[in-house]
Amino acid sequence: MASRLGTVRKRLADLGADAALLTFLPDIRWAVGFTGSNGVLLVTPDAAHFVTDGRYEAQAEREVEGAEIHVPGYKLFEYIAEHALLGEPGTCVVQSDHLTVAQLDRLRGLMQVIRFQPASKLLVEAVATKSDDEIERIRAAQKITDSVFTDLLSMVKPGVAELDLSAEIVYQHLKRGCEWMAFEPIVASGARGALPHAHPSANAIEPGDMVVIDMGGVKDGYSSDMTRTVAVGEPGDEARKVYQVVLDAQEAAIESARSGMTGRDLDQVARKVIDAAGYGDAFSHSLGHGIGLQTHEWPALSSRVEDVLPVGAAVTIEPGIYLPGKFGVRIEDIVVLSEDGCVNLTHSPKELLVL
Ligand code: ZN
Ligand code: ZN
Repeated sequence: MASRLGTVRKRLADLGADAALLTFLPDIRWAVGFTGSNGVLLVTPDAAHFVTDGRYEAQAEREVEGAEIHVPGYKLFEYIAEHALLGEPGTCVVQSDHLTVAQLDRLRGLMQVIRFQPASKLLVEAVATKSDDEIERIRAAQKITDSVFTDLLSMVKPGVAELDLSAEIVYQHLKRGCEWMAFEPIVASGARGALPHAHPSANAIEPGDMVVIDMGGVKDGYSSDMTRTVAVGEPGDEARKVYQVVLDAQEAAIESARSGMTGRDLDQVARKVIDAAGYGDAFSHSLGHGIGLQTHEWPALSSRVEDVLPVGAAVTIEPGIYLPGKFGVRIEDIVVLSEDGCVNLTHSPKELLVL
């Protein structure tokens, strides 16, 4: 944790600032370990202060490392101003992606000697560069998701409602040690599978349906995220062909994935395969996203994003093809990038399962 505060301080130095006021809870957790729902972290070159409310006094004492803890009650910004926790007049960076305009106005009103400087993506690169311990947590979460998938397959059959499968997915993740779900599971059968973010419905699976199952849990703060598409009975030639195109695209992207390339370049690897098969218009979202303390975090693997992917980033690779009125196919794994390739943390089978 101490080295993470050092990383924040290095960012300050790079930006020519005297302090940082962090308001994004996943970043605060990353920096000092606090897991509660309210708190602000101030970092200066020689001090760190964590300010929270009375509900979290005991929890902060137990969790927070490397910062002095303050528990003033609910008015955190007023306390920071009254106690001059930001020190001498100077420049303080704030997280412009995670602070409201009203909050910034309040800070400026309360501390007129401080120049508050909004900074976007303040810590994203540092947060994306996962430690071995963080990779192990993602691996542990994904291991649970893999085991839930294996055992779920016997339930995936005609007549079973999407919501029944979704309920089982949630129950089994919690039974197997997740503290909560990373996101609401997606179980989308038949034509509903063509909606990339369908909510599970009361619709029953029918013979011949392709079923898209996208799920993930949270274990020790870190998310898993996996999609598999299975066929319930013989799905037909078109679905088989589309499945193979998506799988080829996914495997080509995994084959190419490494740090130092841009998210856009990696997205292009998969998109080219899908374009060449004539389904370019049906791959309607980006290739993937970073994953860690948040299920969706920087970097985006997107045709619109030229950010360079750092060593140690955990990212999803999840191409899909969606044919309205027919079906959808998506396949998603989590990989960890290194300079010469990547390690796949997902172990569920990827050949088309016909149940
Ligand atoms: Zn997913
Ligand atoms: Zn995902």
